Amino acid sequence: MSEVDYDTQGILFNIQRYSIHDGPGIRTIPFFKGCPLSCRWCSNPESRKVKPELMYNKIRCVSCGKCEEVCPQQAISTDNPYFIDRDLCDQCGLCAKACLTNALEMKGTRMTVAQVIDELKKEENLFRRAGGGITLSGGEPLTQSEFARELLKACKEKGWHTAIETTAFAPKKIIKEIFPYIDVALTDIKAINPYVHRANTGVDNRIILENLIRISQMTQLVVRVPVIPDVNDNAEEISAITDFAKLLSGVDTLHLLPYHTYGENKYALLGLEYPMGETPVVPEEKLGQLKTLVEEQGFHCYIGG
Ligand code: SF4
Ligand code: SF4
Repeated sequence: MSEVDYDTQGILFNIQRYSIHDGPGIRTIPFFKGCPLSCRWCSNPESRKVKPELMYNKIRCVSCGKCEEVCPQQAISTDNPYFIDRDLCDQCGLCAKACLTNALEMKGTRMTVAQVIDELKKEENLFRRAGGGITLSGGEPLTQSEFARELLKACKEKGWHTAIETTAFAPKKIIKEIFPYIDVALTDIKAINPYVHRANTGVDNRIILENLIRISQMTQLVVRVPVIPDVNDNAEEISAITDFAKLLSGVDTLHLLPYHTYGENKYALLGLEYPMGETPVVPEEKLGQLKTLVEEQGFHCYIGG
């Protein structure tokens, strides 16, 4: 008799296949909606809210007016410079169904654990052969903790390797419930200075740092540092991060992930301003200096995931 509640429901915004950067081997990644952080450089802004969200791609729009006709909230109007009044929109999704050019797309689908497992099964033979598995990502999977837990239990029932990409911002109780079902945790350390962390992510880092110590004692932990201009691309912050990483059980490597702007266009599709503005990428020479600093503290260091 299974101990998994396969009827537990949650909201995903994507299931990505054939990933090679999010855990060992070839991974299939369910992306969870909802995140308690609001990192200024976030490349998945469509993941922030737990509820589904409407994205509008003006380039694909042929101004047919079908969406305006079907919207029960009168939230769409060509007279509106933003096209959608997001205060009126209740995310019913009728407009996206009516749009024949995919200019409108609902990000976020409610699914049961059973439905997700049916999707994940399609790659089962591949990731068994390639030594891969499932990686929960988002968003923050721990935001939908019951759904995450039952999904992980179901994966383990099938004998699959499991990983999670997590901010570690969650109550201790949730960490204790979920991490027994996780083989590898991948996390970012964004800043140790609490003021820098709060100003750039919207939350205090104390819970995160405490949880990372806890998680490192429960499972294998991979630590990545997004290197963000004027946030942590300096010796003081990187040294503080290496000092903290010395407290983590089994962590001898840090990955420096250079700031990129891949998610910038998605902000416009959601009717949002890009918070990083025109911030330039971190020069290679500076990345090299920060890598040397990490290595001098006794860690292996790689630039990239
Ligand atoms: S999702 Fe529903 S309420 Fe929102 S704009 Fe589309 S049709 Fe209108
Ligand atoms: S249905 Fe699609 S293509 Fe037609 S006006 Fe609306 S967004 Fe544009």
